[in-house]
Amino acid sequence: MDENTGIYLHIPYCRSKCRYCSFNSHAGREHEISAYLDALRRHISSMADHPWCKQRIFSSLYIGGGTPTICESNALAELVAGCLAAFPFSSKPEITVESNPNSLSRDTLIALRQCGVTRLSIGVQSFDPVDLTILGRVHSTDDASAAFFLSRRAGFDNVSLDLMFGLPGQTAKSWRHTLESALALAPEHFSLYELMVEQGTPLAGMIQRKELSLPAEDEVVEMALVTDTLLAAAGFERYEISNYARPAFACRHNINYWENRSWLGLGAGAVGSLSGMKITNVADPALYIQRVTSGVAPYSAMECLCREALFRETVIMGLRMIKGISITDLEQRFGFSPKTYYGKEMDRLLEKNLLVITDDHLHLSQQALPVANQVLSRLV
Ligand code: SF4
Repeated sequence: MDENTGIYLHIPYCRSKCRYCSFNSHAGREHEISAYLDALRRHISSMADHPWCKQRIFSSLYIGGGTPTICESNALAELVAGCLAAFPFSSKPEITVESNPNSLSRDTLIALRQCGVTRLSIGVQSFDPVDLTILGRVHSTDDASAAFFLSRRAGFDNVSLDLMFGLPGQTAKSWRHTLESALALAPEHFSLYELMVEQGTPLAGMIQRKELSLPAEDEVVEMALVTDTLLAAAGFERYEISNYARPAFACRHNINYWENRSWLGLGAGAVGSLSGMKITNVADPALYIQRVTSGVAPYSAMECLCREALFRETVIMGLRMIKGISITDLEQRFGFSPKTYYGKEMDRLLEKNLLVITDDHLHLSQQALPVANQVLSRLV
């Protein structure tokens, strides 16, 4: 019996498309939402009886997007309640809903609390109005604060804020202002992402045409230092490269993902991983609706990873966590340790103090955190 499986539900709709966004999200297709939620409900009930989901207890549900709170409040709450009723969940599951400041009404928040949602993630991104304009966000900094206070009034005591740094025109000083404004709200959790400029997005075009320019590397390093200083002083622990939490508020759903355990992916473009089998759903919401409604499985790809590929993936994902990965756990799951598997490459990374072993855990050193992607790429 696997007692630690997660469920990810994807809602691929947004009010408008942000300039940097390369996620599977669509603006101007709100007319599709009702049919999409019907399809999701059908997918949930077919998977609840599926052999892949037998012998599993589910410990977390994460509704991400897109913007899940774009859905009508009762419809979203019914979806959550339906999912909780369809699958066997542990006694205190973590249930997260992602949201944006301009899509959080009092009714939505109350409906979400009443159907059992325990955790809210709000995409604030910045407390600098200039940043929000550059990113193409359609909410103000006041909307973000108002959404946070509304969530508290609705009873949410586990709220995460998403913020972004390394933005065009941003300085360490303006990032400090964003962080201080966010800390003043006293949330339980932060996800702090450095901007990755994705090819094909409007923002990438603006940078290529030199209408915008990214901050210098030194400035971004300074932003990372400001982050560590302010968050540590406020009592937050960095538990993953981009995630910080107050004690006991780390996101269990995402830890399950970084430990490369099992989760079921439902919805357009969602990817699941069940005991090493990767299942990807078709990305286009209209095709997803059509497939599910006509009783056809909505998968676009399925891949069974061999033991070695799964081991490498587990090492790379696990090293994103600050505490790293248990070597004993790796040996028990896969039958070999990082040192025996990677041999000289691992020795070199340990000698250069990019990787460290502390109390049976292999982890990135402090000096390796800013260059984590380069280090991890050597273990692929
Ligand atoms: S709100 Fe999020 S998912 Fe929607 S367009 Fe903006 S970045 Fe993309």
